[in-house]
This record gives sequence, structure tokens and C-alpha cells, in this order.
Amino acid sequence: MKNKIVAGNWKMNNDKEQTKSLLNKLNSYKIPDDVRVIVAPSYTHLDQSIQMLKGTQISVAAQNMNAASSGAFTGEVSAAMLKSIGVNSVIIGHSERRSLYHESDEILNNKVKSAIESDMEIIFCFGEELDDRKSGRQFEIINKQLSSTLFNMSELDWKKIVLAYEPVWAIGTGETASPSQAQEMHAYIRKIISNRYNDNLANNVSILYGGSVKPSNVKEIFKGSDVNGGLIGGASLNADDFMAIVNAF
Ligand code: PEP
Repeated sequence: MKNKIVAGNWKMNNDKEQTKSLLNKLNSYKIPDDVRVIVAPSYTHLDQSIQMLKGTQISVAAQNMNAASSGAFTGEVSAAMLKSIGVNSVIIGHSERRSLYHESDEILNNKVKSAIESDMEIIFCFGEELDDRKSGRQFEIINKQLSSTLFNMSELDWKKIVLAYEPVWAIGTGETASPSQAQEMHAYIRKIISNRYNDNLANNVSILYGGSVKPSNVKEIFKGSDVNGGLIGGASLNADDFMAIVNAF
């Protein structure tokens, strides 16, 4: 079954007190039973967040992880470390990781394999650049990104994968893909998954949209029949805005 999911990527925001305050506000809201809510605080506040969200409908994801299980990788964090504090989900492939930290498809493929080996859920991000969209190459780019990172995974592995289509030109820019652009791409993604695997897998994977989603535009975006929720950056830092998005289905 596809899940309705709203995930908040807090990026490098919120210190300890701000994390506590935002989580307290989120905890004061009633969440619809059929919506999964996930927040991704920074590494330093994952443990605190796990503790504060125990017994609630909100779960915690990490924003990144290293593919290696341990060793000389200064500043990095492994899947096993995340699992040891109760973090069972991780965002992989965010466009900021790809562009600022040069994470290639090969690196991302290794991270996906490592996360699957550790039985972690993956929120896998991908999306085309503005130039790709302007030149009409967006479908080709998405096909390539998914083929080289996820299409060597087994059908069983896909039970742990949530997709997040995030056109790079819409992230943090205030510019959103139109509801029809989002729906069109999500339908295309299902089609290529069906071609590589089968209809059943394609129809059951949750595909989130990300890119300047906010309370004012979310309802139209979520109307897309292949849009199963959102990965939210800026608007996830404000509890009222984030919960308006959670309640927008
Ligand atoms: C993101 O970073 O994943 C994102 C979608 O950011 P924003 O909502 O701020 O565009």
C-alpha cells in the first residue's frame, strides 16, 4: 500500500532549544490517522528528537549517512550508528548533497545498498536542474538518475524505499513545479518503475514531491493522483505551516 507521507527536512537549522520548542509545537497537533509524518533534524539532535517523539505519530529520519559501516571517515556517520539510537529512516541523494558535496550516482548507490543492508527506510531524492527542464530533457535525466542509483536493487529492497521528486530549480527558490508538472513527472516515474520491475511495485511505491511546498500551494499539488505527499524544507521549520501541509490531503 502506498503511504501518504509528509517529511520535514530541517537541514542545518535549529539548536537544542529550538529543536525542543519545534517538537513540542508539533506534538500539540492532531495528525490524521492515514498520514505518516517524519522529521529530519540535524545529527546532533536526533537522539533528543527520538526521545521527545516516543509514542507519537511522528518519526525521525537522518538527513544523510555514510555508505561505510565504520572506519577512518572523519566527520561521517554510519547506518549502524543511526540505528543504535533508534533512527530507522534516512534521506539519501538530496540535491544539496549532490551539488555541494559532490555525491555522485555511484556514491548514492553505495549509500542505498548500505542503508538497505542495515534495514533502514530510505527517502531517496532526485530531480532535474533548470537547464534540463528548459531543454526538455527532464524525463531523460530522471530516468538516468533512477537507473544508476536504484534500478539495481531487488524488488524486495523497494519495500524500504520512498521516492522524493525534487526539481532542483524549485528547492528553496519559492518557485514550485505546477501541479500538472509534478503529476506528469510522478506518472512518468511510475511508468519507468513498472517497465523495470512491474505494475504492482510501481503502484505501491510512495512518491513525494519537494520544492517550495507551502500551505498556499500544497492542496493543488497533493491533488495529483500520483503524488503521495511531500518532502518539505523551509516550511517544515514552522509548526503551523508544516501541520497545515500534513492536513492538506
Ligand atoms: C528540500 O530541501 O528538500 C526542499 C524541498 O526545500 P524547500 O521546501 O525549502 O524548497
